[in-house]
Amino acid sequence: MKADVLICGAGIAGVVAAYHLCVRQGIKNVVLVDERPPLTLTSDKSTECYRNWWPGPGDTMVRFMNRSIDLLEELADESGNYFHMNRRGYVYLTAVPEQAASFQETAAAISALGAGPLRIHDGHHETVYQPHAAHDYRHQPDGADLILDPALIHAQFPFISDTAIAALHPRRCGWLSAQQLGMYLLDQARAHGAQVVRGRVTGVNVGNGRIQSVTIDQDGTPLTIATAVFVNAAGPLLRQVGQMLGVDLPVFNELHGKIAFEDVLRVIPRDIPLMIWNDPLMLPWSDEERAWLAENEETRWLLQPFPAGAHFRPEGGMEATTLLLLWTYHVTRQEPVWPTQFAPEYAEVVLRGLTRMVPGLAVYLERMPKPNVDGGYYCKTQENRPLIGPLPLDGAYVIGALSGYGIMGGMAAGELLANHVAGGTLPDYAPAFLLSRYDDPAYRALLDSWDAAAGQL
Ligand SMILES: Cc1cc2nc3c(=O)[nH]c(=O)nc-3n(C[C@H](O)[C@H](O)[C@H](O)COP(=O)(O)OP(=O)(O)OC[C@H]3O[C@@H](n4cnc5c(N)ncnc54)[C@H](O)[C@@H]3O)c2cc1C
Repeated sequence: MKADVLICGAGIAGVVAAYHLCVRQGIKNVVLVDERPPLTLTSDKSTECYRNWWPGPGDTMVRFMNRSIDLLEELADESGNYFHMNRRGYVYLTAVPEQAASFQETAAAISALGAGPLRIHDGHHETVYQPHAAHDYRHQPDGADLILDPALIHAQFPFISDTAIAALHPRRCGWLSAQQLGMYLLDQARAHGAQVVRGRVTGVNVGNGRIQSVTIDQDGTPLTIATAVFVNAAGPLLRQVGQMLGVDLPVFNELHGKIAFEDVLRVIPRDIPLMIWNDPLMLPWSDEERAWLAENEETRWLLQPFPAGAHFRPEGGMEATTLLLLWTYHVTRQEPVWPTQFAPEYAEVVLRGLTRMVPGLAVYLERMPKPNVDGGYYCKTQENRPLIGPLPLDGAYVIGALSGYGIMGGMAAGELLANHVAGGTLPDYAPAFLLSRYDDPAYRALLDSWDAAAGQL
């Protein structure tokens, strides 16, 4: 068997790479190799959200995401919105005056990076707040609305705690069906010549200083595919596959969980944006619970402050009741293992935390409908930027370290990878994602002062 390009991994990274190589660059013989069915390791575990609202340094991530969203909108137009893209926005909320001031400062900075205009609604400016549309991804505002008028926040989002004093609503944001997006791209790639081969890549064979072939294990049977171009799109296993090429990729993994929860009492309206509580918080407990938790060394941590960032969104149509709840309150680096494991109290902690933002959810604390907990790994670089481009071995490339943004950034990531492989025109953000950026001592020195978690959900 022979391939013009062999891609290891059929998650969203491998699939977008195959799509761009076959459909947009016209390369016919692209083989995607995966030991699992396509899109089933991390890419079907995501919250499926997108945003162009990214902090610096510089405008690299804003331009990358704007390009990706341009491409997603093109696909939505051509497919009759096959993957249900909406543009409801993200709403960041705070009850703390200093945080409201910081919203204004960071929002002005992100707006200046190219994320669109900032409109302030404080009861003094003459600006009109345009509510989001539930379904339309076109004809929606760009940039962000900063609401500093609590009455306006509560009129728009009456289920939110009346402690909220500021809301930042970036508008080129929303969500889509990642599975349908991935399958649409895979079908298109297949129609243009791509093939999916089931099996585990176990070795990459190098001769004369370049890639010659790839060895695959198919349930104990070895298969060798001759190829001169190998793309590492192995998601959380990026580093392991890099080692097959003799390249040490500077990535690590963090476990992030997601809870699907049935809001059977319909506390939350179905047509709302993604809602994020941006303040650290204490979990609510009764005096009796508090005394009991304080007694025990193993439970005392539940009385400590928890970090900002609890968030949720409705999942499914207007008739559905599912909510997706997320909050990674313990972020740790770890080696990936499957099946992923979450602490038994995880769902209850997240629900309790969210009652600070939505007091109405407290009705479920007495008797919580059985939640469905899953999740996966954010594979990341130190500065939370992806790795896309050639590796220091002729014919080898990487597309990965897509962290918590592989669905939203996938289209631009795949386009960039395909341009590297096919010798197309590179966008000006291309150097920022090369592995070779770490060869620059000035860049490495910058990393120490870089807040890698900035903007991460
Ligand atoms: C809880 C959670 C919420 C998220 N929310 C969002 C969100 O709202 N928006 C967003 O944009 N992103 C989100 N993400 C991130 C997004 O899901 C990831 O960035 C993306 O799925 C990564 O895709 P990938 O293709 O790199 O990896 P994967 O989907 O993991 O695919 C890698 C593939 O490589 C295969 N593979 C590995 N090694 C080998 C080998 N040796 N041989 C053969 N195959 C191999 C694996 O089987 C796998 O199928 C979220 C992630 C999580 C966990």
